[in-house]
Amino acid sequence: MADWGRQRSRLSDRLRERVADEDVLAAIASVPRHQFVPDDKRHDAYADRPLPIGSGQTISAPHMVAIMAEVLDLSTGDRVLEVGTGCGYHAAVTAELVGPGNVYSVEYHASLADDARETLEATGYGDISVRVGDGKEGWPEHAPYDRTYLTCAAPEFPAPLVEQTREDGVLLAPIGDGQQRLIRAEKQADGTLDSEDHGGVRFVPLQ
Ligand code: SAH
Repeated sequence: MADWGRQRSRLSDRLRERVADEDVLAAIASVPRHQFVPDDKRHDAYADRPLPIGSGQTISAPHMVAIMAEVLDLSTGDRVLEVGTGCGYHAAVTAELVGPGNVYSVEYHASLADDARETLEATGYGDISVRVGDGKEGWPEHAPYDRTYLTCAAPEFPAPLVEQTREDGVLLAPIGDGQQRLIRAEKQADGTLDSEDHGGVRFVPLQ
């Protein structure tokens, strides 16, 4: 029997080199990543690398999930929109930081969304809301969001997502058509974005 809990806390310890936020490290130490990845990839669940999750998609490496959570500066009670549910792992880490009832996630592939819902329910994150659809449109019914992030790359921040984020709220996404940069943008009172570059990244493109 693998000692998943121990592997998980070791992973979280290793991430301390790159991530300072202890709440984020605690979230990584809490979410059972092995339950989110396909059975034949479980042995690699606590290695710090991306893994395939089906439908040609990948779950990001844990350090990338942790860095995104840190850069987003999530607090308890923040309402968060995620674009790209995938297997649901990143949403669960976010939920550890803001509370599961505050996380809204949109997934393009119905089969991934169904599996994610099932896993989230089974792992105690059933209060995360998952919708099938085009994440570029956001999820207007629950707007405004304090934080909005994409787990797939876009050429620019889609306008509906900017609209649905509150003033002084933060958006985070891999931006770019070939070369991608992780961009954090704060929404200003006049609706424009004040952007900050967090370096080169590689994500699957938005559909
Ligand atoms: N956060 C995920 C990683 C997902 S990979 C996890 O923890 O597993 C990126 C995801 O974005 C894929 O599941 C892909 O299907 C989804 N995606 C791509 N284009 C999309 C779109 N237009 N709307 C919503 N989801 C999209």
